[in-house]
Amino acid sequence: MTLTEGALKLLEDAVGRDKVFTDEAVLYAYSWDSGPLSLLTLHYDKPMFMPDVVVKAETVEDVINTLNVANVEKIPVTPRGAGTSLSGNSLSVKGGILLDLTSMNAVKSINPDDRVAVVEPGVVHRALEERLHEHAMFFPPEPGSADMCTIGGMLANNASGVRACKYGTTRDWVLGLKVVLPTGALVSLGSRALKDASGYNLTQLFVGSEGTLGVIVEAALKILPCPEQRTLIIAGFRGLEEAVKAAQLILRRTTPSSLELLTEKYVETMNKVMKHFKYPPCKAVIMVELDGSQVEVEHGSSFVAKEFKSVGAEALEVYWNENDRAELWHARHHAGFTILRMFTSSEVKIKAAHIHDVCLPLSRILEYLRYAEEEASKLGISLLPYGHLGDGNLHVNWYVDTSSEASIRAAIALTKKMIEKVIELGGTISAEHGVGALRSHYVSLQHGPLLEYMKRIKAVFDPNNIMNPGKLWPEDEEDFLEQLLKKVS
Ligand SMILES: Cc1cc2nc3c(=O)[nH]c(=O)nc-3n(C[C@H](O)[C@H](O)[C@H](O)COP(=O)(O)OP(=O)(O)OC[C@H]3O[C@@H](n4cnc5c(N)ncnc54)[C@H](O)[C@@H]3O)c2cc1C
Repeated sequence: MTLTEGALKLLEDAVGRDKVFTDEAVLYAYSWDSGPLSLLTLHYDKPMFMPDVVVKAETVEDVINTLNVANVEKIPVTPRGAGTSLSGNSLSVKGGILLDLTSMNAVKSINPDDRVAVVEPGVVHRALEERLHEHAMFFPPEPGSADMCTIGGMLANNASGVRACKYGTTRDWVLGLKVVLPTGALVSLGSRALKDASGYNLTQLFVGSEGTLGVIVEAALKILPCPEQRTLIIAGFRGLEEAVKAAQLILRRTTPSSLELLTEKYVETMNKVMKHFKYPPCKAVIMVELDGSQVEVEHGSSFVAKEFKSVGAEALEVYWNENDRAELWHARHHAGFTILRMFTSSEVKIKAAHIHDVCLPLSRILEYLRYAEEEASKLGISLLPYGHLGDGNLHVNWYVDTSSEASIRAAIALTKKMIEKVIELGGTISAEHGVGALRSHYVSLQHGPLLEYMKRIKAVFDPNNIMNPGKLWPEDEEDFLEQLLKKVS
């Protein structure tokens, strides 16, 4: 859409000119997230996801005033935290207002006695963690983007990451929210109590809604005391079968905080950037982190090492030192980008990834991976699986040459097959990155007629469909691979 002069003036009057930006350079900077959709921009003469205007909200009133204007003028609004989404969740696919919430970044209170922290949405995960550590507390969900991503973005995406194996997702750690609805009304959802059985759980409806229902302006989060001890055990295996078997044996008897899988290409590229350590150069590598009391962790690490050996681990290391673990985790958190080192810099420009984010019952994972591998090899595509094996959430990624019609056609065929298979096996098409715009064309395969109920729920909160349109389900654009195909053929 193109914003009229009149609407822009209303917005400037409502929030103040110093918080409203229309410079092309600013709009361009906000036309990216961290996923493959933004890369499409490189194939077009004009950036694809430019908002018409950026509003940098500093207060709840700024959010209310912005939504009041947007609702009356029917302007799309895309809320945005750090823009680290991988599925185009925070891209302005319909233009309009990009509402930057990063300046609303106060930690309002930390109450270890109540086990509650109250924060504004723009607080960066790492900043919150540092504040919580002063009280010997922590907020369990930890995405790989923890150094950058905001709590608002985590709530809206229901983000998780390496600790979901034991602690679940962001959804499990939110007690209450303050939300500005698209009509400009400020509402409080949930409470500060640790349990709540009163009525429909609207708090949870907003968690994972990807900014399509309203703007979160405050969150009451559950926090926990830091565990006394943590340890990291890394083992290398001959193949995926052995690695999955080892994971199953461990999960039958204990609950690690993390149980991660890396495959050989990741290990190879990560080892190029590691300073002091190397991951074992094996076909499959498992990282297990245990936390708890000293005794518990010592006992658990012996058990895990024994089980790893019983399935023929080729390499095994146990890391007790915090700095060592931090370096190894840092490399793991950035594995999804480090993998790009397998390309030369000129190749990177013509590669498009599909970052699959499937989640399956552990017992079906090998079947899924075998199927995907077989279908991919028929189409001449190499798969690069890795991820949070402990909770069944894998990123089964691949890259294709975006200048070749044949490879894009192969990529489209493979995507559909992989998504249909995951649903057939009782899984989901996204476990942590969300639907965004990237997966919006596939969501009906999973939800079928229930999608209509979801649309009706959205209409109750957002009658003018201003909140982040083009996400969760398609509005009119084609799937991104289809768009690429048109560009190339
Ligand atoms: C290196 C890397 C590693 C990653 N690892 C993980 C991982 O392990 N696990 C995981 O889950 N994700 C991961 N991600 C994806 C992403 O970082 C997370 O989903 C993160 O929570 C997004 O936060 P953000 O602040 O960047 O939000 P944004 O990308 O800015 O926004 C995310 C969504 O939230 C909405 N939104 C933002 N703020 C608000 C608000 N206040 N009110 C309403 N809606 C809002 C946006 O409209 C958008 O739909 C990773 C990304 C990168 C780049």
